[in-house]
Formats: sequence, structure tokens, C-alpha cells
Amino acid sequence: MCRRPASPTESENLSGDSTEIYIQIVTSSGRTIPVPANILASASTVFESIISRPRKHRSSEKSIPIAGVPCDAVVVFVGFLYSNRCAEEDMEKYGIHLLALSHVYLVPKLKSQCTKALIQRLTIENVTDVLQLARLCDAPDLYLKCMKLVSNKFKIVEQTEGWKFLQNNDPFFELEILQFIDETESRRKVSRKQRKEQSLYFELSEAMECLEHICTEGCINVGPNDVVPRKNRAPCNKFSTCNGLQLSIQHFANCKKRVNGGCVRCKRMWQLFKLHSSICELPDSDCKVPLCRRFKMGGGEEMKNKKEKERWGLLVKKVVVARATSSLLLSKRKRVEEEAGTGACGEVNDNHNHVIRKLIC
Ligand SMILES: [Zn+2]
Ligand SMILES: [Zn+2]
Ligand SMILES: [Zn+2]
Repeated sequence: MCRRPASPTESENLSGDSTEIYIQIVTSSGRTIPVPANILASASTVFESIISRPRKHRSSEKSIPIAGVPCDAVVVFVGFLYSNRCAEEDMEKYGIHLLALSHVYLVPKLKSQCTKALIQRLTIENVTDVLQLARLCDAPDLYLKCMKLVSNKFKIVEQTEGWKFLQNNDPFFELEILQFIDETESRRKVSRKQRKEQSLYFELSEAMECLEHICTEGCINVGPNDVVPRKNRAPCNKFSTCNGLQLSIQHFANCKKRVNGGCVRCKRMWQLFKLHSSICELPDSDCKVPLCRRFKMGGGEEMKNKKEKERWGLLVKKVVVARATSSLLLSKRKRVEEEAGTGACGEVNDNHNHVIRKLIC
């Protein structure tokens, strides 16, 4: 049973113009809804082309059957053609039918409203049905949302009736969905790996900053001999990295095994000095970081082969980019910190242990 008229009056000419042509929309239940031809033609090019087709008998009234959807959905559809609006409750009840109608009759505004409404109403239970509809109706946003939901909740979705029905009736589409899930998982793995790598470059870039800060300004435990210790200042703002680096520098200065003796910790510190030298732009005489000059003169560890050289070059490039990025990202924060009176420079306390001089320069 249809519930209400599509327009204020179905049987009368709304404008009172006796020359206005009416088209009869015929629903699946046999109900006819008269709609002015100009309303239909201006809302939909499909209706426009149906209306403009020549009729067999000029006097015969033109009718357009809309079957396959409930009568009330057609009523709501016709209402939209008049007003460009659709009540929430109608969207709730007939969203999927309205999407199909908007696709078949090319009503883009309704299609976009249906897409948004259906995205908001997606559930594990309805996602497979909506996904199939989105594919049939060429609604890419809705399709992608459905695919993502299926992909994220696949273990639960595959238990639903909708999924079982799809499996039995459209194995090709099932395969398409499974491929999407597979590709999504691979993409996630790649982006996890990239994030991990990215964070390594940021850590190295921070270590480079700390190394320069330790060797020029000095920090709590390590600093150059010519820096006068300043008392009672808080640790620098990268203290967790800075402190670890200071411990490594102290170890590097005092270790008996050293790099050639196979000490892993010394080897790591050696690499950090080398990395500094690769990104250092200061003239030799101005840089206070140990070994910088020696590496720049080629006195450091030689690269074993071309591949290793390339890998090192790439690492240096990535660290430089990470450094530039982090300085851009942090510039605002730094400004705020500087205004608040906390600089990046650390203080050297009374018990400071200046070890840089002990390193091989
Ligand atoms: Zn520090
Ligand atoms: Zn060591
Ligand atoms: Zn340097």
C-alpha cells in the first residue's frame, strides 16, 4: 500500500495551467503518480529523453513505469524531484532504493545525499548488501567505505548472512573483495615499515643535533673544555637522547677494546661521528665535533663497495631530510619554548666530565 501522495495533489494540475503536460509515474503496486513533464525533465536527463520520444498517438497520456522498488520509495523519489530534499526518516527507510533510482535516472544530487546517508548507516550486517549496491550504482565513495569496513572487520563480516549470500551468488565479486583485503594488508605492512624507517631517520637527526650541542655548548656530563660550566640549569629538551649520547661518548673515550677491538658500542658511536661528518657543513676549523675533519679528509673507515657507498649516501640524504622536516615542524614549538625561557642548550654541572679532548680528533 502506498502511504501518501507524492505532491500536494496528484489529480490536479498544480499550476492551474491547463496546457501543462503531465506524465504518469506508475509504481510496482500499480499506483499512478502524475508529475509535470517539466519537473521530470529538469530533474533528470533520463526522464527528459523518455518524455521527448515521439508518442504513437498524440492524444495518449505518457506513462513511465518504475518497478523493482517499493511504491513508497517511488513516492519519496518523486517528492525529491519536486523539492530537492529528502526527510531523514525516508532516507532511513528507502536509502538503498533511492540510491538505485538516483543512479538509474541520473539524479546526482540525490545520489550524493544517499551516498552520505548510507555511509553513516553502514553496519557489519548491511555492509555486504550496500557494497554490492554501491558497485552496481557506481558510487565510489560508498564502495570504498564498504570495502574498508569489510577489510577491517572481515572475521565478523564473513559470519553474516549477506556475506554467505554473496559467496554463493557472486564468487567473482568475493574474489575482488578478498584481493582488496590482501592489498590493503600489504599496503599497511609497507606503511608500517616506512613509518619505522622514518622514525629511525628522525632519531638519527636528533642524535646529530645533540652531538653538535654536546660538542659546542656542552651538556650535563660531557662538553668541550673551553666551555665554562653554567650552574643550576635544567637538562636540555632532548635529554633522553642527549644523555644516552653522552654516556656513549664517555664510553668511546675510555673503552679499551675500541672499534678495532670489536666493541659494538664504540662502533655505533664511530658511525654517529661519521654521519655527523657527512652532514656537517661547517669549515674544518669551526667544527668541534670529534673526528669530523678526519672523516672529511677520507681518513675514516673506507666503504667496502659501491653498494655500501650508495646505502650510506641514501642514509645521509634521509637524515638531512628528516632534520629539515623536524626543524620545520618544531619551529613553532621552539619559538614558544624560547619565549618561555627554556633553550635547547643544556647546562654543565660542577661534576662535569669533559671528555671530548680525550677523543681522537
Ligand atoms: Zn644536552
Ligand atoms: Zn667500546
Ligand atoms: Zn663537523
